[in-house]
Parts: sequence; C-alpha cells; structure tokens
Amino acid sequence: MLLDLDDEELRHNLLRQGLLYPKTNAEGHELFDANGNRQIPTEERERMVEQLEKKFSEIFDILRIDRNDPNSTDTPFRLAKMWVNELFDGRFSEAPRITVFPNRKEVDELVISKGIKVMSVCSHHWQAISGDCAIGYVPNDKVIGLSKLTRVVEWFSRRGQIQEELGEQIADYLTELLDPLAVGVVIKSKHYCMIARGVEANEQAEMVTSVMRGELATNQALRNEFLKLITERS
Ligand SMILES: [Zn+2]
Repeated sequence: MLLDLDDEELRHNLLRQGLLYPKTNAEGHELFDANGNRQIPTEERERMVEQLEKKFSEIFDILRIDRNDPNSTDTPFRLAKMWVNELFDGRFSEAPRITVFPNRKEVDELVISKGIKVMSVCSHHWQAISGDCAIGYVPNDKVIGLSKLTRVVEWFSRRGQIQEELGEQIADYLTELLDPLAVGVVIKSKHYCMIARGVEANEQAEMVTSVMRGELATNQALRNEFLKLITERS
C-alpha cells in the first residue's frame, strides 16, 4: 500500500494508532511514553550514558561548538549523566517504598500536604517545569506518612511530562495505594518553554492544574475548604 504522508489526516491517524514510529530501539529495547516507567538496571543506565555522550558530542559538532573550549570539553558527558540519572530518573527507577498505616482513629477530614517541590521537564520542549504541588486526601482505611508524598511527586516529576498528566498520575497512584474517600492534586508551576522562548511569557506566568477525585469532585464545601487551606499563608 502506498501512503501519502503529506496527507495530514492520514498522518494523524497513523500517529494515533502508533504506526508511524518504531516500538523498539536499535538494540531491541522497548520504547515507552516520556512519562512512563520501566525499571532499568544500573549497568544498562551506565551504557545509556555512554551512548548519549557520543550523541551529544555529535550535537555539539552540528552546533559548531568547539569542545577544545574548556567550558565545553566535558559538557556532553555532563548532559548525558544529567538526563539519565537526574532529569529522567523517574522513568527508570523503581517506585519509592511507601508504608501505609491503618487509619486507627478513623480520621475522616482532609489531610493536606502543600509546598511540595515540583521540578520536571516538559515533554514538548525538554525545558524545565518548576513549581509546587499541594495534595489533599480524606482517608478511608489507610493513611500515609506525609513526607512520602514528596517522594511520589518527585518520582513522577523526574520524567518528560505535561503538567496535566503529572497531576493525574499522582492522583491515580494515591488512589491505588490508599483507596481514599477523596483526593486532590493542585500543581502550580512555571514552564520555561514559555519563559525562555516561544511567547516569552513574563517570568511570573504560572500554570495551575487541579485534579479532584471522590468527595472532592462531588462535595463543593469540601473542595472549597481544600482550596482555602492550600492557598492560606502559614
Ligand atoms: Zn514545553
């Protein structure tokens, strides 16, 4: 069958069906979404860093950056390590270990953690997303140590993300873990793809997304209480 890839509609259809790009890389490893996760052993990650360093060196050549310039000599290596072990770490590392506790006192009010750091990378431009996140939930049978929420946000943030999906992934994960009566995730952040380039938005420009599940989706008073508590200054 001959395909006319100038046909935008056809191209979009193929994209949607996952037919346009390969499903595995040259070494046969499965390719997965930028904000997905597959645990990859340390040795394989080290190999990724080696391969990536070579490719970044080629990029320097294309951009005509002389690597004899002492400021650029080791930059391909630094970039390779940074992408594999820091900025995309959540793609390759196992989920944080989280202990849940029985809700012995039958707490049935909102439990909130706010000011959780969000440092991520946008999938569209690979620029920083920097901001914070507030999470609230109404326990059912289980509660979680609040510091653990920071780990969960970190794990999902250290991937190529779009903010809308980051909030949904965090909410899905907590729903699975705690089966709460309500869960809410509000993220407020700056997107450097909008600040450093493109529309060159004001540095104060922020994107706010919210995910409300369970009683937070249906009970207006509870939702208002949550929103009030996360915006109040401490
Ligand atoms: Zn972007």
